[in-house]
Amino acid sequence: MNIELDITPLKDWGFNFKNPLVISGPCSAETPEQVMETVKGVAKHPLVSVIRAGIWKPRTRPNSFEGIGVEGLSWLVDAGKEVGLPVATEIANAKHAEEALKAGVDILWIGARSTVNPFGMQEIADALQGIDVPVIVKNPINPDLELWIGGMERIHKAGIKKLAAIHRGFSSYVKSEYRNKPQWEIALELRRKLPNLPIICDPSHICGTTEFLLQVSQKAMDLNFDGLMIESHINPKVALSDAKQQVTPTELYALLDALVLRNTSTDNPFFLNKLDELRDVIDSIDKDVISLFAKRMGIAREIGQYKKENNITIFQSDRWENIIKSRISEGTDKGLSEDFMESLLNNIHSESIRSQTETMNKVEAN
Ligand code: PEP
Ligand code: MN
Repeated sequence: MNIELDITPLKDWGFNFKNPLVISGPCSAETPEQVMETVKGVAKHPLVSVIRAGIWKPRTRPNSFEGIGVEGLSWLVDAGKEVGLPVATEIANAKHAEEALKAGVDILWIGARSTVNPFGMQEIADALQGIDVPVIVKNPINPDLELWIGGMERIHKAGIKKLAAIHRGFSSYVKSEYRNKPQWEIALELRRKLPNLPIICDPSHICGTTEFLLQVSQKAMDLNFDGLMIESHINPKVALSDAKQQVTPTELYALLDALVLRNTSTDNPFFLNKLDELRDVIDSIDKDVISLFAKRMGIAREIGQYKKENNITIFQSDRWENIIKSRISEGTDKGLSEDFMESLLNNIHSESIRSQTETMNKVEAN
């Protein structure tokens, strides 16, 4: 499906956004001092263009800190005024939207637990109908690109063109080194489908701790994301939410300074020539790879036919075990990663099975 949304580029949102656009501030507003001190600290870095703070916090379990509520809005707005930066907060329903706008919040974002709910998204969209406020939509907690796009379409239908996405990773039952698995391919697919949509990475919620924040932020920059949302707190150890993943303003400064920012393009003719040459090689290798795959698939079909004539089942697990083991080791010997080899082989195998099943079930014409 081809989607076309009329989206205003970040440079025309009416703020003085830097590139990359960095959004920082506490996970939650806790006290006026905590907000003000954090904001004054993070605003010192020239890349920080927007201040964030959560006012209403969607928490997994009840009885944990669920946000300070409306009174925190003025702390956030005042802190933004103090440093001369626009402020953003999360809204989860029409009432939040109304209160945030009344308090003078400049940018609204919709959290991962709200994006999953089309009724909730529609309610927010209806509340924003005809209002010129920028909205940033976080990915849903489950890896469902259509749901993410659908949420943004609802907001866009309400007339909002200052629209952006935040990639904050996807929840998984299986324990991993991430709090939320990045599954970068989903964000890249979003970029392919909506090339004009700004995408900001939220390494804080992807990582869950501060350990790999820089690596994840760097990866987002190398993948051409438009910005970063990084949680910060004047004293993370005592933070009422997401204590493990927040950085101090000083740590944020160091992290942003350590980022290597690369150009997205160049007009240097030597570079472009060399790049063209290498791309030609890739194009011709891809052609060979595709014709080899087609040839392999033809043989798989022939085997299917042969099995059919001899009344043998399609799947033979010991043969497949062997293929997996030997090919993975051939691939890793040549410097290809085990994960890549495994997913490539699984794809090939399921396509072979599909086509052999088709052959088996084909009614022969006399
Ligand atoms: C947040 O940004 O503090 C937040 C609650 O994020 P998410 O919706 O990504 O969980
Ligand atoms: Mn948080």
